[in-house]
Amino acid sequence: MQSQNAPITRELFDQVMVPTYNPLAVIPVRAEGSRVWDQQGREYIDFAGGIAVTCLGHGHPRLLAALQRQAAKIWHLSNVMTNEPALSLARRLCELTFAERVFFANSGAEANEAALKLARKHASVRFGAQKYEIVAFEQAFHGRTLFTVSVGGQPKYTQGFEPLPAGIHHVPYNDLAAAEAVISERTCAVIVEPVLGEAGIVPADPAFIGGLRKLCDRYSAALIFDEVQTGVGRTGELYAYMGLGVTPDILTTAKALGGGFPIGGMLTNAALAASFSVGSHGSTYGGNPLACAVANEVLAIVSEPQVLAGVRERHRRLTDALRALASRYEVFDEIRGRGLLVGCALSERWRGRARELLHMGLEEGVMVLVAGPNTLRLAPSLVIPQADLDEGLHRVERLLARAVNTL
Ligand SMILES: *Cc1c(COP(=O)(O)O)cnc(C)c1O
Repeated sequence: MQSQNAPITRELFDQVMVPTYNPLAVIPVRAEGSRVWDQQGREYIDFAGGIAVTCLGHGHPRLLAALQRQAAKIWHLSNVMTNEPALSLARRLCELTFAERVFFANSGAEANEAALKLARKHASVRFGAQKYEIVAFEQAFHGRTLFTVSVGGQPKYTQGFEPLPAGIHHVPYNDLAAAEAVISERTCAVIVEPVLGEAGIVPADPAFIGGLRKLCDRYSAALIFDEVQTGVGRTGELYAYMGLGVTPDILTTAKALGGGFPIGGMLTNAALAASFSVGSHGSTYGGNPLACAVANEVLAIVSEPQVLAGVRERHRRLTDALRALASRYEVFDEIRGRGLLVGCALSERWRGRARELLHMGLEEGVMVLVAGPNTLRLAPSLVIPQADLDEGLHRVERLLARAVNTL
């Protein structure tokens, strides 16, 4: 083992960390807005946003001020007492959305865990123990707890963790008939992402989402929208459901909610919330004052109409440019997504090579993401300056030119 003052390098990761990740070679040390610098002082344009998290870029002065203000007052209390930032954030979420009640957690997985537990509890309290089935979608991603990987539709995330929670059906996304075939009086919840995120940025058909709403009403099942990735302005609406014209019974939010400070939330109506009682569920850090103070400021900024309009404007600029690059280099055969959650589907020749392109992007000074092996995913800051957007696109073009010449 190295001494405490030996340099921190990528190699150290393999010596001291549980190998659940294979991080890239560069270690970023500083960031401002949509630019990031690594240990060697190399600069990158950030089109990754920490996986759709840093929705206002890095070091936003208002978020920094909110964090510092709260840090100087009180950091933590536990839920034995409540606190001002948590109540203020819950009130704001209720004002801005369909929600009448809010539960705070620390991550997307925990928000979904709370949502699924609430749906089961509600069904058992109101309808009896036989109503516990959950309908979910193939390729969906809902987090990494045992319940959320089981509900998620990617078998690679459950292998070796059996036995899994029972009563979960998976059907193909955007296939209403398949959902209708498995939903029944025994169903307590249907959980769906408004844009299938990890599996390639596939937006839901409005008719599919509308049909799920009707099925849930017919069978008294809770419709859960996992908006962990699509929420907080990402799609150009504050929450994606607002653009779909369908209101869920439960909505989960995390990622961008804290702009980089860990927080998750489960939003629901008063009737469902009443099925949880004191002690039904909880979290030591959930509703932490620092997290809630930052999230309050994030929501105040993102809910401004000009910020949301700016997302739609940047969507046009970004996707127009990507479509032009797609026809020039033929690496992408489709550009899809909503707002600033954009997927570039790789053409036949490039299938399976998203990660190679991501590596090459770093060498060209642009941080991008993958969504499965066949899609590059971009999730830049919602307020990325035009100059940074253009410079990032310029670097994406260099990446494509180099890929076409060398790979
Ligand atoms: C990222 C993500 C999650 C999991 O969030 P964590 O904060 O990593 O637990 C759940 N659902 C969706 C749709 C996500 O994109």
